[in-house]
Amino acid sequence: MNIDAKINETWKKLHNKERFCMFGKCNEKAINSHVFQKNGILRQMSENNHLIQLFPANAFKVEETGLTQFKKIGINDAYSFKGFCEEHDTKLFYPIEAKDKLDLFDAYHQALFSYRGLCQEIRRKGVSLELINEIAKLVNHQRASSLSDGFKSGIRNLTFFKEELESAIITQDFSKFYFSTIEIPKINLCISVPLNVGDLENPNNLPYDEWKKHEQFPRSTSFINIFPLKSKSYFIGGFHKDYPCNWTKKKLKKLSYSRNKIILKELSDLIVLRLEFWTMSPKLFRQIPQETIRKYKLTFSENIYNHSPSMKTKINLFKNIKLTKEMKIYKGHNKRID
Ligand SMILES: [Zn+2]
Repeated sequence: MNIDAKINETWKKLHNKERFCMFGKCNEKAINSHVFQKNGILRQMSENNHLIQLFPANAFKVEETGLTQFKKIGINDAYSFKGFCEEHDTKLFYPIEAKDKLDLFDAYHQALFSYRGLCQEIRRKGVSLELINEIAKLVNHQRASSLSDGFKSGIRNLTFFKEELESAIITQDFSKFYFSTIEIPKINLCISVPLNVGDLENPNNLPYDEWKKHEQFPRSTSFINIFPLKSKSYFIGGFHKDYPCNWTKKKLKKLSYSRNKIILKELSDLIVLRLEFWTMSPKLFRQIPQETIRKYKLTFSENIYNHSPSMKTKINLFKNIKLTKEMKIYKGHNKRID
């Protein structure tokens, strides 16, 4: 068996491996948890019960192949991860899954969305770390140790915020967190991730081992949630007040008063420059020209380790999309952002 096939097989094995509930100290078996409600938000934007999702290519081959895998996947597996036991998956997120309970401007609900996206990222990084450790046994690759250190440090950082969010959810005291929700024009795109903007660079060009010692912990980490609901889309942004993220605040403010075209470009920038875990409707994906996709893949590969707040790109995935009726009537978010 060649090395690629072995890596592929290892990934599948790890992906399907039994995992345990991520909530608190719960030790029950984890089921497949959807990052957004399957029978609500995800099904509404699906086509024949399918959605488009990006799957990162093998981390060892990014330079050669770019990130090539856009996949159309069934709704049962789309935008999901082995996150919580049956009980927590149902009860913990009930307030944001029950239609009559949902209040997108309520800190408890904003925290639940952010918490689920954060757990997803921790799980995904954990699986990647296991994969790298397995690959390191197969090939003597010089990148294995720095990649593995990167994942470990990322998981440690996100776990800090996971525990802080958990205790806020349990005590119902959200005073340590800043959250803001804004309405944006409806677009069939879902994102729910923690994001580190800035301060990952190595400003003094220290040798890797030296820089590692100076790494900050915890790092300012923001929570980004974007999803369509009824006739609008919503952007919930937040962060821990002890580790504030000005980039997120500025982004919320800009999106709150911008018009369609600017908002679509901002969403495109997020996907092109900063994220790898999102899902969109096949209809929206088909409107992105092949040439734009090709440029996107190239830019994504180039920027994969860049987290600078000032990154810019000319690429606009949504430049040619047909404005829907819902987009046309959008006249800007009318609540003030503090
Ligand atoms: Zn549980």
